[in-house]
Amino acid sequence: MKTAVYPGSFDPVTNGHIDVIKRALKIFDKIIVVVGDNPGKEPAFTTEERMEMLKESTKDLKNVEVDSFSGLLLDYVKNKGSNIIIRGLRAVSDFDFEFQRALMNRVVDNEIETVFIMTKEHYVYLNSSIIKEITMFGGKVNGLVPKIVEEKLKAKFSKI
Ligand code: ADP
Repeated sequence: MKTAVYPGSFDPVTNGHIDVIKRALKIFDKIIVVVGDNPGKEPAFTTEERMEMLKESTKDLKNVEVDSFSGLLLDYVKNKGSNIIIRGLRAVSDFDFEFQRALMNRVVDNEIETVFIMTKEHYVYLNSSIIKEITMFGGKVNGLVPKIVEEKLKAKFSKI
């Protein structure tokens, strides 16, 4: 049973993330999608809200677990009996950051491997910030995020 951990802010989850999860399931037996906070970003949704949206969006996928973590990701991965971190890759712009993180994680723990998965071309330009911006200004994001996310975004931003 090979388990991989897919960490991210998922603020909120997009169809790009879901595509990465589905592709990862072709390689690994189980994926733990884990919500963490990026110290450089103030999240729009609470950890619980982000987990709820992820759970709803992955409920039809077998062998996907949703969790949250704080602290060192490497410790979390090991505690789950895994040594694999999944990250999604979009454009060249992701590469510098992801390359540095993956190598740094390996310096700290040589047992950990980071596996990069390329999303479907259709989602290459997609990120959570753009989704929030579009919704804030009344634009439509259907087809780019799961239905539950669309509803939560509308509810959150219509109050502003
Ligand atoms: P973080 O703040 O940790 O980067 P994100 O939720 O923004 O968390 O992203 C989690 C992971 O998913 C990252 O590896 C990111 O590159 C990847 N990702 C985000 N959006 C997409 C997308 N549209 N296609 C493929 N991978 C993506």
